[in-house]
Amino acid sequence: MKKTRVIVTGATGRMGQAVINGILDDPQCSLVGAVDIKGEGKDIGAVLGRGNLGIRIEQNLEKVIEDTLPDVMVDFTIAQVAKTNIDTAIKFGVYSVVGTTGFNEKELEEIQGLSEDKGTGVFFAPNFAIGAVLMMQCAKEIIKYLPEAEIIELHHDQKLDSPSGTALRTAEIMALERGLNSNTAQGKEKKGMYEKVKGARGGNHNGIPIHSIRLPGLVAHQEIIFGGLGQTLSIRHDSIDRNSFIPGVLLAIKEAPKREGVVVGLENLMEM
Ligand code: NAD
Repeated sequence: MKKTRVIVTGATGRMGQAVINGILDDPQCSLVGAVDIKGEGKDIGAVLGRGNLGIRIEQNLEKVIEDTLPDVMVDFTIAQVAKTNIDTAIKFGVYSVVGTTGFNEKELEEIQGLSEDKGTGVFFAPNFAIGAVLMMQCAKEIIKYLPEAEIIELHHDQKLDSPSGTALRTAEIMALERGLNSNTAQGKEKKGMYEKVKGARGGNHNGIPIHSIRLPGLVAHQEIIFGGLGQTLSIRHDSIDRNSFIPGVLLAIKEAPKREGVVVGLENLMEM
């Protein structure tokens, strides 16, 4: 059976290293390239403490693609860098599996357009943890019955973007189910309410308040609290280790390239 040839951009980052370990342990995948601005020239196997693999960390993505002819690029960098990487991958006909978060609307529209023009697909998952996907699916059901809800997301203090991609995606899924123009949207200020400290009520995405917490000691966590008459219902997901994301990334490497165009969300690759 032909193995899927994979390169990883952001290879020496927290997620990049976890993803590479997952790829190396998967008999259906073959790591063929590693791209990062940190650790250039070093062998990625040595960086991971697995001994030399004969794969040097390179800065130049185009060169790595030309030299290794990958099937899939997995990107865990930062949004601006990832945008350029995805454009390059599309140009070379390489499928992108993207974990990086923090893209703006314009960047996503451009990626969509380029993907359509060139006929090369891109898969985005704001969260690769299966538990987080299930949390979003549960939220979609619960909001039908308890339409007032707020999201609290908690991440490590090195995370650059807030709110998290997961929180934004969760709010979008919930708002779509509830109806974007719902009267119950707490985002529309209720009469007499005001903030004594700006931001105290969190951000507002599609009428759903989102509160972001950044602290050392955290990895990636999210709670959704639904409120109804005389009751609340809370659901929470905790990624306590970055390995929680790896089965989802491996599923995307194998399954997502079978889909056409731009696909968002791991739920689209799972039978749900
Ligand atoms: P990190 O800072 O540890 O790693 C980012 C890596 O990108 C670093 O090694 C950095 O050197 C590299 N980089 C920066 N600029 C580059 C460039 N120009 N070319 C090549 N490499 C470059 O960050 P992280 O914790 O690994 O997170 C990376 C991204 O993944 C973030 O956007 C984060 O929000 C996202 N994330 C997503 C999920 C998910 O399930 N989708 C899970 C965790 C993290």
